Amino acid sequence: MEPLTLRLEPVNVDAGLVSELAGGLRRIFAVEVRVGKGLSPGAVLEFYDEEREQVRADLLVEELARLLPPVALILIDADAYVERLNFVFGIAKPGWGGVVFLARLKPEFYGYPSDESLLLERLLKEAVHELGHALGLEHCRNPRCVMRFSNSIVDVDSKTPYFCARCSRLLQQMHPGILRL
Ligand SMILES: [Zn+2]
Ligand SMILES: [Zn+2]
Repeated sequence: MEPLTLRLEPVNVDAGLVSELAGGLRRIFAVEVRVGKGLSPGAVLEFYDEEREQVRADLLVEELARLLPPVALILIDADAYVERLNFVFGIAKPGWGGVVFLARLKPEFYGYPSDESLLLERLLKEAVHELGHALGLEHCRNPRCVMRFSNSIVDVDSKTPYFCARCSRLLQQMHPGILRL
C-alpha cells in the first residue's frame, strides 16, 4: 500500500511551530508529512463571524475539503465555533482531514504568559485528535487517550498525544501500518 501523505497548511501560523508539529506527527504516524506554502487568510475570512469574532468551523471545513485533497490538516490562528457550541479547538471531516484552531491553545488566552513548548504540546494533541477522526476514529472515554473529547483546556492538558491501546488497534485495522508506536 502507498504510504499516506499528510499535507499541513498553515494560515497565519509561525513556520517554526508548524515544522515542530510536523516532526511530532512524523513520530506518531508512519505517513509522509508535507508542509504546504500555507493558505491565504482570504480563504478563511469568508467564514469569519464579526460579531462572535470566531470562524464558523463546520462551514469552513466543507469548503476546505472541496479545495484540498485528503489527507489535509489546516492550522489557523483564530478562534472558532459550530452551531450550539461556544467554541471548538478543531474540527474534522472523516475521510478528508481536519482543521485545528490555535487561539484557545495559547496560554495567553487564559491570562498566562506565552509558552511555545506548551502551545506545541497542545497543538500536537489536537492535531492528532482531528487526524484520528479524519482516519475514522470516534471519541474515546479513556482520559489519557488523545481521542478523548476536550471540553476545556484542562481536558487538553490532562490527555496525552497518543492513542490508547483500543484506539491504536482500531486505527491499525482501518489503516495497517499507519502508527509508528
Ligand atoms: Zn473530537
Ligand atoms: Zn482511545
